[in-house]
Amino acid sequence: MRDASAGALTAAARNWRAAAAARTPGGVCGASGCGRVYLALGSGVPQRYCSRRCATRVRVAAHRRAKAAG
Ligand SMILES: [Zn+2]
Repeated sequence: MRDASAGALTAAARNWRAAAAARTPGGVCGASGCGRVYLALGSGVPQRYCSRRCATRVRVAAHRRAKAAG
């Protein structure tokens, strides 16, 4: 039961993110702890992060995780 409110909050956040992503020509940054909404600049390259910095941060974190797991 203690997870009910947290689940509702997560669902609301998810809905908001989906709505924000649908309204803007871009999306929500995929980097954990960022969550910024970015605008796609029409470069033709699908963006997943608000900035190159976030993309690099996620790549480094994933690399670290893989190293720690392996
Ligand atoms: Zn970001």
